[in-house]
This record gives sequence, C-alpha cells and structure tokens, in this order.
Amino acid sequence: MTVAITEIKGIGAQKGKLFAKVGIRTVTDLLQYFPRAYEDRSHIVPIGEAAAAEGLSVLINGTVSSVTEVRPRRGMTILKVFISDSTGAVELIWFNRPFKKRMFRKGMEVHAFGKIERRYGRLQMNSPEAEPGVAAPGGLVPVYALTDGLYQNDFRKAVNVAFAYAKEYGDVLPACLSAEVTGRAVTAEMYKAIHFPPDFEVLKKARKILAFEELFSLQAGLLLKRQENKAGRAVKFGPNGKLVKGLLNNLPFTLTQGQIDAFLDIQNDVETESPMQRLIQGDVGSGKTVVAALALAKTVENGYQGALMAPTGILAAQHYEEFTRLFTGLPVTVALLTGRSTAKERAELLRGLANRDIDILVGTHALIQEDVVFADLALAVTDEQHRFGVKQRVKLRDKGKAPHSLYMTATPIPRTLALSVYGDLDVSTIREVPPGRKPVKTYAVGEGMRARVYAFMKKRIAEGQQVYVVCPLVEESESADLQAASALYEDLSRHAFKEYRCGLVHGRMSGKEKDAVMDAFRQGDLNILVATSVIEVGVNVPNATIMLIDGAERFGLAQLHQLRGRVGRGILQAYCILLAKSSSEETRQRMKWMETIHDGFKLSEKDLLLRGSGQLFGYMQHGLPDLRVADIVGDAALLVPAREAAQHYLREPGRKEIIVKALKHRFGDSFAKILNN
Ligand code: ADP
Ligand code: MG
Repeated sequence: MTVAITEIKGIGAQKGKLFAKVGIRTVTDLLQYFPRAYEDRSHIVPIGEAAAAEGLSVLINGTVSSVTEVRPRRGMTILKVFISDSTGAVELIWFNRPFKKRMFRKGMEVHAFGKIERRYGRLQMNSPEAEPGVAAPGGLVPVYALTDGLYQNDFRKAVNVAFAYAKEYGDVLPACLSAEVTGRAVTAEMYKAIHFPPDFEVLKKARKILAFEELFSLQAGLLLKRQENKAGRAVKFGPNGKLVKGLLNNLPFTLTQGQIDAFLDIQNDVETESPMQRLIQGDVGSGKTVVAALALAKTVENGYQGALMAPTGILAAQHYEEFTRLFTGLPVTVALLTGRSTAKERAELLRGLANRDIDILVGTHALIQEDVVFADLALAVTDEQHRFGVKQRVKLRDKGKAPHSLYMTATPIPRTLALSVYGDLDVSTIREVPPGRKPVKTYAVGEGMRARVYAFMKKRIAEGQQVYVVCPLVEESESADLQAASALYEDLSRHAFKEYRCGLVHGRMSGKEKDAVMDAFRQGDLNILVATSVIEVGVNVPNATIMLIDGAERFGLAQLHQLRGRVGRGILQAYCILLAKSSSEETRQRMKWMETIHDGFKLSEKDLLLRGSGQLFGYMQHGLPDLRVADIVGDAALLVPAREAAQHYLREPGRKEIIVKALKHRFGDSFAKILNN
C-alpha cells in the first residue's frame, strides 16, 4: 500500500510540493530518506569542556548572567546572552532577532545547542537553538538535506509520524529483502535507529545491516544482468590460427605478462558460445590496444567482422593507423568511420561493410548510427568505455546478433570496488606498463615558480619538443572552464609565448574543430597546446614531453594521472609540472603522491581514500542506481560477502522473480534500465 506524504497531519498540498522537491512523495519515501548527519545531543557538556570542542555542536546547560542588546547601526541588532556554569562561561549571540530578548532573564536556567566558536578570545555560540529550562539529553538528532522552506523540526516530526503509520500498515516500510534472503534481518527497528539513534553504537550496527542489504540487492541485480548477458548465443570461435599468429609475429615488441593474461582471458571467453562481457582495465600506456587487435584478429580468422569504437575522432584515427601497421602483410581489411568521413567515403564504406569486404571497422560514435549495418559482427570493442553512456555501448552491441563485447578503460579501480561498479562484467587487469619506459618526472610547484617553468618550457621547445598546458578546472561549469582556458591561451600567446605557435582546444568545440587543432599539434605545427581536460583521453604525441597542469589542486589524482599519461610516450625524458595554488595539507599530500607514485592503481586507491566514492570515475556512466545507505568505498569490506550471499541465493530456482520485484521497488527505474538493456 502506498500512503501519500500529504496524508500526514500538518503536511498539506503546499508542504507536499516541498517534500516532492527532495524526491519524497510517499511515507515510504520519507522513511527511506536518511539523515545526512547527526547532532550529538546525547549528553550535556560542561561549558569549561566545550572550549575543547571548538567547531563542533554541543549541548550545554547554564545560568543567564547578562542579557544585552546592541545596535551597531540602523536596522541591525545584536543580542548577547551570557550563560555560565561552575566550569566556565559562553556567549550566545543572535543577529536581528529582537524578539528573542524577551525569552531570557538574568538568573534563569537555560539550555542551548549550537556550534562552539572562539572569537576575540571568547567562547561563543552563534544563533544556537536555546530555550529556558534544563536540557533533557535527546540522543542523536538527525539532520536532513532539505530544500528552502522545509525545516529540520517539521521534517523530524513527519518522520516520527511515518513510524506510527509503519506500525499501523506494516507495508509502508520500505520493502527489504527478508532475512531468509540476505541472511541478515532488516527490521523496522533498524529504520528507527537510522533516523533517531540513541547513540552512535546503535546507529553503526543498524547502518551496517542496511548497507549489507542494499549491497546484496545491488550485487543480485548485477548478477542477474550478467546472467542475462550470458544467456545469448554468440559465435564460438576456434583455437588461434594464422591471423593471430601473423599478428604476433608482426609485433615490434614482446607482450607483457599482463597483456598475455588478458588475451588468454579473452580467448577462453570467445571459445565458448556465451557472449563475452569483458572489461580490460589497465593504466595509461599499458598497451590495451594490442590486446584488442589480437581479439579482432581472432574474430576475423573465424570469418566474422569486428568493430572498435573510440570516443574521439583523433583517437579513432590513431587506432586505425596502429591497426593498419599491425596488420601489415596480413589479409585483413581495416576501415575508419568518423564524423569527418565524406558522404562518398561513407557510402563506399557502408557497402564494404554489408558485402563483407571490410573486416574491422574503427570509428567514433559514427559507428552506432542507424544505417551502419554489418554483415556479421561478432566482436564489439569499446575503448575508453567510461566516455560512453550505457545506451551507446548497447547500440554498438546491437549491431550484431549477440556479439562478444570487450570494454577497455584506463581508469583502474581496486578489485573489490570493480565488483560493485562492473559487477556484471568479467574483469582483466593489466598491472604493468611495457618495460623500458622512463617514468614521467613529476614536480609540484607553487605560483612563485611560474616564470622558471616557462623558461624550462622554452628550452625544451628550442630542442624541438612540444608542451601541453592544461588549465584549471572550474567547478561545475563548462562555460567557466572555457573562459579560463581562453584567458590562459590569450595570456600565453600574447605575452610569455608571443614568439611561439600556440593552439587551444576545449570541450565546446565541435569534433571537427577539435580534431583539426589536435592534428596540428600532432604534426608538430604547434609548440604549445592549451587545453581543458578534454585531452585526457588517450591521444598519442610522442614528441610532446612536458605536461604543465595549472591549478593542479583542482583535479583528482586519477585525473592528474590520466593527464600525465599524455606525455612520456616516446624515448625522450618527459616532465609533468603541477602548478598548485593552495597550500593546504591535503593538496600538499596529494601533490607528494603524484611526485612519488607512478602506478595508476595505487593513485586511484589514494584518491578514493581521500575523496570518497564521488571520485569513482565511471560509476554513474555505468548506469548504476544511487545507493541510500551503503557507500561503496566506505563499505568495501561488505562487498565480497554481499556478492557471495547473492550468488548463493540466486543459485536456487525461482528466486529471480523475488529479486527483480525487490529491485524495482528499491531502485525504481534506474535498475530496471540496466536490467533490460
Ligand atoms: P593504452 O593502454 O593506454 O591504450 P596503448 O595501447 O596506446 O596504451 O599503448 C601505448 C604504446 O605502447 C603504444 O605505442 C604501443 O605500441 C606500445 N606498446 C604496447 N604494448 C607494448 C609492449 N608489450 N612493449 C612495448 N611497447 C608496447
Ligand atoms: Mg588506449
């Protein structure tokens, strides 16, 4: 049964709208809307001790020793109420709340809850919640993320009423998978403990069980999705033949163990008739492209076509060139389709695809247009998969009849987390980069070093090398990003680098414009390429040896590492210079890690530690639902047991239906979407 939120006394149509604004329409929604924080009112803090709690909110009791009101200027009043106990005194302050004055009298017992601050050597509470009378400790008080016009107190009351409804109609409680399913029971008590916990201990226990239940559901969903993927009938390839061997012979290097292992995984997958669903994660420069080429060679020698989709025209062109080189002398036809292909080229290419003249098609999003029809697509590869949405990846897959799918990503994440982000895929990891690469020398410097950095750039340019300059990331606004990039570009090309050829590339340019600038840089026509983070994706310009990142403090470690990976692709020593403005402890630590750690996996672990799951690149792109309680980083320890429990549960017949129903209820459409594609 669904009970509308407006059934709760005191919530009319008007308030109902505000609740709807934060996504709450029913009593069940309300119970599932968990606090973002808690105020600790579980005990009274002696005022003398509150001094040590600076910056925290505390509950205090005291006697009023003075009430004064000052009017520093017209229209402004400041109310100051001094209260003290046997251990100390604190000043309660309100701005422009003249009516409050009537509440307090000298000698009166009052209690107050608020943040302890120290101003001009005095202990203060600014706009606390304060009332006459001695405080009754109230446990932990929930604080919700609300919208304007919706107040914490009203919201808390509403939640309380919702629990009364839960008693009356048991089924307004969010549908949880029962203890029989998860092995751990979620009860109404746990919901109560999340909203109004008596102490942190109880909260922690309840949170853990709810988080487990949620991760169990997520894992069960991913496992179902995986079963669904695997259920199709794909082409079963034979053992490696002449083409794979020919390609191996063509390689100008020996494969790393990681590359060999990844290809062995692929081989095992495609030599069965259930469609491969494999992700290769490997650091920038770990050589994922060759692995894809081997998989494509295997596809062609079995008589089928393969496709590789890359996020930019430049990248697609690079792959095309590399494949052409790798397949030299072998009977394989590779073609390239991007937004830059002319109508004539395109028509010819489509014919070639349909009549089976083309074996491998490399391209951009252009590959997934309706009229691109393969005769027999049996392997679909998506490079830099986090750059594509779920829909686009599915569209590529749908170009064949249950083709094998291979995804590649250069933003590696630790294994346990991969379970929750890529739980529907099999994952191969290439840990090492090919031997002999010189690590990119990385230096973090402050603004004061800018002139010296520019001098260093000029010296390298004089030797014929090229430089990337990445602009500060301006949070949450692409147009602000663009402005920053344009400003820096103007500045460099008019002043410090007047005599040099500079180019600018940013996210607002069309694909063609971007490609044109990138091409000019690649061909050495530009000395300096100023860019927003759009160059992050795998371009390869071996002659570029310096990566200057301005405002490095704004980027996550994983992103900095990606950017750094743009240089150091040739035989020359490469440099990454991180120009960081802030000198906070956190920035200092992060820059230190960048200087000393060159392994993308290690950096991404550090990033997650520091910045939490928000940094999980690709989590949203993968189309996963938002989690309410569980945090896939903080609760990583629960992931493996949750997955094992889900696996165990789904083993018995007839259980899929139960899970699907629960998932729909819990995650709504977001999960339905990934389950049905
Ligand atoms: P990424 O994993 O970032 O996509 P690429 O596939 O672009 O990396 O490879 C980066 C470079 O390393 C390419 O120039 C490629 O030819 C080269 N490469 C790949 N594998 C090896 C290897 N085993 N030994 C030496 N060089 C390699
Ligand atoms: Mg690549």
